[in-house]
Amino acid sequence: MQVSESRGVEFDAQLIRKLNKSGPRYTSYPTADRFVDSFGYRDYLQAAAALRTRGSRNPLSLYLHIPFCDTVCYYCACNKIVTKNHEKAATYLSYLKREIEMQGQLFAGMNQVEQLHLGGGTPTYFSDSQMGELLAHLRRWFQFAPDDVGEYSIEVDPRTVTPERVHSLRRQGFNRISLGVQDFDPEVQKAVNRIQSESETLAIIDAARDANFRSISIDLIYGLPKQNVMSMAQTLAKVVSARPDRIAIYNYAHLPHVFKPQRRILDSELPSAESKLDMLALCIRHLTNAGYVYIGMDHFALPTDDLAVAQRQGRLHRNFQGYSTHADSDLVSCGISAISAVAATYSQNVKTLDAYYEHLDNNELPIARGIKLNMDDALRRVIIQMLMCNFELSISSIEAAYPITFATYFTSELAALQTFADDGLLAIDDEWLSVTPKGRLLVRNICMVFDRYLATKQEQPLRYSKTI
Ligand code: SF4
Repeated sequence: MQVSESRGVEFDAQLIRKLNKSGPRYTSYPTADRFVDSFGYRDYLQAAAALRTRGSRNPLSLYLHIPFCDTVCYYCACNKIVTKNHEKAATYLSYLKREIEMQGQLFAGMNQVEQLHLGGGTPTYFSDSQMGELLAHLRRWFQFAPDDVGEYSIEVDPRTVTPERVHSLRRQGFNRISLGVQDFDPEVQKAVNRIQSESETLAIIDAARDANFRSISIDLIYGLPKQNVMSMAQTLAKVVSARPDRIAIYNYAHLPHVFKPQRRILDSELPSAESKLDMLALCIRHLTNAGYVYIGMDHFALPTDDLAVAQRQGRLHRNFQGYSTHADSDLVSCGISAISAVAATYSQNVKTLDAYYEHLDNNELPIARGIKLNMDDALRRVIIQMLMCNFELSISSIEAAYPITFATYFTSELAALQTFADDGLLAIDDEWLSVTPKGRLLVRNICMVFDRYLATKQEQPLRYSKTI
């Protein structure tokens, strides 16, 4: 058995082999594939009205989706539009501003914002002046907390920006930056159609540091074509020496029947399942030895980073952008396919430009589907959040917040969890469910036990990635 223990997480190859199966990533519960088309614009208005009736003073999170990319990366599973016609961005920006204005009117008087995230696609597909126009418009409709309180982040493709642009992004108000790297190996980059030199990435990291970004995050992927343990070790060494505050290492999920660009990846060039496990073990060992803390799922952070501090203080939260430190925020999202979480609802925008423009031309928010959470959904959402973020669950805190007796309400779940306890993934007593260090990499499996939709509907393994 291959076992290596490091700060907070223990890699047990045998257990991972035994339990690795397809499952949701739980950026929401219920997961987005449970949203229904009968949820629409009017349901969203009611959710916002419910906040107003409650006199909500919670600050908001904002998410904006900018879908355009210059070229396609073959591993991509994002909702994006690949085009070199930058005029499309100007049209999109004008409609995005309309949606922001409508949301701003809806949230007037409760429009304090402490968190903003721009994702894509490639947010820096917008030119410097378009980005300035967008942020000025946002400030017209929402009240942003000062720079030292708010988290204002942007995903940046180092191939699309210069160091000067990075300084400009900081002046425009962003204080966190996340860079897509994936792998430094030129052969891997060629195999996934993402050629990005090491020097251009390092120059952007240096610029972000010079410009005083509070947190610099790097995204890597393991399991890409032509990757192996040796190439991964070299990439990790380079990343660690650049000392970003956060590192995310995603598992490449090869689902070519769902994501078209992945059909251009040759099966024969993909690493074997065993090699992927070795790469994962290497990542955990390398990063924890370098002083990074395992946050959960695919995320590592320096102990001084806000995510690590929030986790130590039990304040970590999980939303569509991954882990976050702002637990109580309602999430208002704009742009195609963007998902909002307002009061006890989730809602998702339409996914095509034409549908997006048509809804906004009709003065309607472009909501395509969503879900209203019932009490059972809300209860299970809290449980899954606690397990994903804190790796433990206080039974008495659940019983204090919800009218249930845990052992009675979750009789079948507790019986199912006993198998995990027998495997050493979980400790269960009358007061706590605690995920052990070797259960942490498999926390999704534990959460899946609490997912009522997986239990009552037919599972859709083809749409989910493997847990590792
Ligand atoms: S990975 Fe990012 S940059 Fe590449 S195609 Fe997908 S969204 Fe665009």
